[in-house]
Amino acid sequence: MATQKISFTEQVDANLNRAAALTDYPPGLIEQIRICNSVYSIQFPLKRDDGTIEVIKAWRAEHSHHRMPVKGGIRYNEHADQDEVVALASLMTYKCAIVDVPFGGAKGAVKINPRNYSEAELERITRRYTYELIAKKFIGPGIDVPAPDYGTGAREMAWIVDTYNSMTTSELDALGCVTGKPIAQGGIRGRVEATGRGVCFGVREACNFEEDMKARGLTTGIAGKTVVVQGFGNVGYHSAKFLQEEGGVVIAIAEYDGAIYNPKGLDIDAVDRHRKEHKTIVSFPGATLIPNTLDALELACDILVPAALETQITMENAGRIKAKIIAEAANGPVTADAAEALTQRGVLIIPDMYLNAGGVTVSYFEWLKNLSHVRFGRMEKRFEERSNLKILRTLEKMTGQSIDAKLIREIAQGPDEVDLVNSGLEDTMVEAYRQIRVIQEKHGMKIDLRCAAFLSALEKIAYAYELRGIFP
Ligand code: NAD
Repeated sequence: MATQKISFTEQVDANLNRAAALTDYPPGLIEQIRICNSVYSIQFPLKRDDGTIEVIKAWRAEHSHHRMPVKGGIRYNEHADQDEVVALASLMTYKCAIVDVPFGGAKGAVKINPRNYSEAELERITRRYTYELIAKKFIGPGIDVPAPDYGTGAREMAWIVDTYNSMTTSELDALGCVTGKPIAQGGIRGRVEATGRGVCFGVREACNFEEDMKARGLTTGIAGKTVVVQGFGNVGYHSAKFLQEEGGVVIAIAEYDGAIYNPKGLDIDAVDRHRKEHKTIVSFPGATLIPNTLDALELACDILVPAALETQITMENAGRIKAKIIAEAANGPVTADAAEALTQRGVLIIPDMYLNAGGVTVSYFEWLKNLSHVRFGRMEKRFEERSNLKILRTLEKMTGQSIDAKLIREIAQGPDEVDLVNSGLEDTMVEAYRQIRVIQEKHGMKIDLRCAAFLSALEKIAYAYELRGIFP
C-alpha cells in the first residue's frame, strides 16, 4: 500500500492530537504543550587528526519549560536532523510527565557517525559542542541536563561534565549539569542499565494483565515468551539480558550489519562477549545469519523489542509483523499509521514514551544525588543493618533456634545505592503503567496504551501550567 511519508514531529503530533481530542483542554493550551519552545542550531569546525578541517552540524532542542531543568539525551547520528531532534525533545516532555520526573523535555544531536572518528576527534567534538551549549545557556543543573542516547555513553558525559566544570569553576552543583556520567565523576550506580531494566519492568507489568494476555492467546508472565530484539547497544543489550533473566527466550538479535537467529534461544552474555571480541554479532557461532537485518522484525515471536532507531516498523512491513507484543524500547520505532494497523490486528504496543523512561528516571536520581552531594544509602545503610540484626537475634532468642549465618547476612544487609536506585526504578515503572492502564479502563478499553499515556502526560503538564499561573 502506498503511504505518504510524514515527518517524525508530525507522527508525534498525530498521537498527541488523538489524545487531545478526548479532553476539553482549550486548544491554545494544547498548542502551547505541543510546540517546541527553543531550538539551538550550531555549526562548528573540527580539526581532524590528519589536519583537515570539517564543519560539524549539531542541535539542542528544549521542547517545554513548564518544569525546569529540561532534560534529554544527546545522540551522535549521521542521519540526525532538526525535525528528529524536536520530535525526540517533545517525547521527553511527555515521558517525564508520565513517570512523574519533574523535568521539561529536551534533546540534542550531533550529525556524525561516531564510527568514522577517532577517540581524540570525538573528544574535541564533544567538548566544543558543550562549549557552544554553555555559551548560549543551553546546559546547566537548573537549565538543561543532557544524558547519553544513541551513539553516546558515559565517556561522552565525562567530557561534557569536565568541560562544564572547567568553565564554571565556582558552581557548587556543577556535577548536576549532565547525567549518565561514570561513577567516579558523579554518576550513579544502575544508570548504564537503567533503560533496559525499565523496559523489562514495563514488559513484565504489561504481561501481568491476564485479560490483555488472554486476548492475544498468551499466558501471563515473561517466562517462556519468545523475544526478538533489534539493536544490541545499551538499551537493546540490557533489555535482552533482563528479559532473559525473567525467563524470556531471546531467539533473534538484529544489528545494523545483519541479524542472528536461534529458535532455541541465544545466550545474551555470550553474544555480548563475541561482539566485544569481533566488533560484530553476525559471526556468532551457533546461530543462523539473517543477512537482511530488517527481516528479523518479521520473525514469529511473542515480544518484538525494537531498540535501535525510529521508523523501523512502517506501513511497508507492518502487515508482515507476527509479534503479539511490540515493546518500543527505542524512540519512535513504529510510525503512527503502522501502529494503528497493528493495534487493529490486536498487537499490544507498549509505547516508547512510557517504556524507555527508565533512563530518565535514574538520571533524575543521579541529578538528585549530585544536588544533595551525598550517595544514596550512605546515611541509613549501617543503621538498618544493625536494626535488622537486632530483630534477627531477638527472633533467635525467642525461638531458641539459630538462623543460618548466610541467611542472616542476606536479611540484615542494609540497602546499597544500586538497591535503592533499582527499587525506585521498579516502583516508577510499575506505578506509571498502572496509571496508564486505569486511564485505558476509564475509556472502556477503547483507546490504546499510547493514547492513554498521552492523556496521562497531558493531564500532568496542564496541571503544571495551571500551578505556574500561566493560564489563570
Ligand atoms: P546505542 O548507540 O547504544 O545502540 C544502538 C544500537 O543499534 C547499536 O548497537 C547500533 O549498531 C544498532 N543499530 C544501528 N542501526 C541499526 C539497524 N538498522 N538495525 C539494527 N540495529 C541497528 O543506542 P541506545 O542508547 O541503546 O539507544 C537506542 C534507542 O533507545 C534510541 O532510539 C534511543 O533514543 C533510545 N533510548 C535510549 C536511552 C538510553 O538511556 N541510552 C533512553 C531512552 C531511549
